Amino acid sequence: MLGCVWCGRLFSLPLTVAMIWQWRPLPQPALCPACREQLTPIGSQYCPQCGRQQATSEVCHDCRRWPDNLRNRALYCYDAGMKAYMQQYKFQGDYRLRLGLQAALSTALKRENYEVLVPIPIDQRTWQTRGFNQVTGWLTGQPFQQVLAVTATHKDRPQSAKTRQERLLTPQPFELVAGAGEVLANRRVLLLDDVYTTGRTLRHAAQQIYLGGAKAVTSLTLAR
Ligand SMILES: [Zn+2]
Ligand SMILES: [Zn+2]
Repeated sequence: MLGCVWCGRLFSLPLTVAMIWQWRPLPQPALCPACREQLTPIGSQYCPQCGRQQATSEVCHDCRRWPDNLRNRALYCYDAGMKAYMQQYKFQGDYRLRLGLQAALSTALKRENYEVLVPIPIDQRTWQTRGFNQVTGWLTGQPFQQVLAVTATHKDRPQSAKTRQERLLTPQPFELVAGAGEVLANRRVLLLDDVYTTGRTLRHAAQQIYLGGAKAVTSLTLAR
């Protein structure tokens, strides 16, 4: 029996003939089938720019308003189920929940074309209250470079507490850490964040990464 890291219930996997013949233990899912059903993977049709699930493969309304074309891919729809997951993981600080999405992120990272992985950092106050960066919590040994930091002067309300308009007007919250240029020079960089909402945070980050000398910047988020 396995214990679900989200709902806490015990569950077992149906044993298949393939599992018996292969002899090797399959990776154990951290979420029970009912909890996995709460999350909606983004299907085959999505905005080619921000990765939002939609009925067409055209650039979406929100993306047409951005002057650039930062390319983002996302794993799951940011719907009620994903919001409930993020609420418990990020805001209630339930660190075990990271286990629920590690395998999916690992698979998604293999599809991305990059040389340097840069997670979006969290600010000092969040470190003190939450105690972990939700983004690096999903990584399972993949190398990453923490070349971005939240500036010391950045005292802002959380993005989640703001309206769309307020988010879009957020001043640059990031700076490059010492030595970032050596890591970034002429490299293809993949930014990693939890949720793509307006795209403002990722664009601030991409701007700094380009200043650091990167030749290309794309991004991946758990949800859109
Ligand atoms: Zn569960
Ligand atoms: Zn879009």
